[in-house]
Amino acid sequence: KLFNEAQEAKGNIRVFCRCRPLNKGEIAAGCTTVVDFDAAKDGSLGILTAASSKKSFKLDRVYTPKDDQVDVFADASPMVISVLDGYNVCIFAYGQTGTGKTFTMEGTEQNRGVNYRTLEKLFDIARERSGRFNYDISVSVLEVYNEQIRDLLSTSPTSKKLEIKQASEGSHHVPGIVEAKVDNIDQVWTVLQAGSNARAIGSNNVNEHSSRSHCLLCITVRAKDLINGDCTKSKLWLVDLAGSERLAKTEVQGERLKEAQNINRSLSALGDVISALANKSSHIPYRNSKLTHLLQDSLGGDSKTLMFLQISPSDQDLGETLSSLNFATRVR
Ligand code: ADP
Ligand code: MG
Repeated sequence: KLFNEAQEAKGNIRVFCRCRPLNKGEIAAGCTTVVDFDAAKDGSLGILTAASSKKSFKLDRVYTPKDDQVDVFADASPMVISVLDGYNVCIFAYGQTGTGKTFTMEGTEQNRGVNYRTLEKLFDIARERSGRFNYDISVSVLEVYNEQIRDLLSTSPTSKKLEIKQASEGSHHVPGIVEAKVDNIDQVWTVLQAGSNARAIGSNNVNEHSSRSHCLLCITVRAKDLINGDCTKSKLWLVDLAGSERLAKTEVQGERLKEAQNINRSLSALGDVISALANKSSHIPYRNSKLTHLLQDSLGGDSKTLMFLQISPSDQDLGETLSSLNFATRVR
């Protein structure tokens, strides 16, 4: 439903903003909330930039700290289902570290996020349609770190260099990547956890590493129409992006500087691609980063894009919150 409203005029890009609650540390430190949700139902958000000034931002949806995983998934669900109709889809979480990107996408065992709920939904609908269609669903889990692709489902100890190749019909893929076939939802959480755990391997600080790398779940759907024999293949990418925060110049040296430059490069490349698509530009610069190159089939054309813009309510994060909202304004 979301995508039929004024689709022509607006294109296929949606931005949903989600604000997490103030955390215990922030409450203890006396932080205040700078986010005003009075117009949240209309998709508008107010940010108190100073004692008496407020800046407004327009988004497609606004979630307050009270909205839960079910509320958030309810709005993403129509888009997710469209992968079963042959559309390529890309959903990603953007924002400063600590704003809830991983909470929204992965969630926790008790409070599962978009990734798990997506697969659960796909299996449900596939079952409902089984009289007419046969669906094969498989998943890959990748990480992009310092412009290098790592296969998080690979169990092979030798990590060969993974590259993006273009097939003769135009689609992009990574030869050699593990595609784990999943037959039912019971297998999914284990596979997703295996991918998530592999992120930690070889890094001495898991949280720091995950805030500097992009984690991508690719769901490939192969559909066969049992009546006319038509076969289609479509892809749904679910992406937990690296933290969008800019590091203080003094903090950044050596290896950290290289990481920071690669993050900036890929996040700006993503912004450039989406804004070029939104402006119906004739050249879409997919090749400027591994991230946009990987996602190419699911960004643009008739594919559907959803960005969860994650923000913090705290006055201490005001600068980053404004910069995230400005990023969203650029792509919308
Ligand atoms: P990020 O991945 O953006 O760095 P996380 O997802 O790790 O951020 O979230 C940081 C912390 O905030 C985690 O402890 C997470 O559980 C909590 N959190 C994030 N969003 C919410 C929310 N909407 N409701 C409750 N807790 C949240
Ligand atoms: Mg995270």
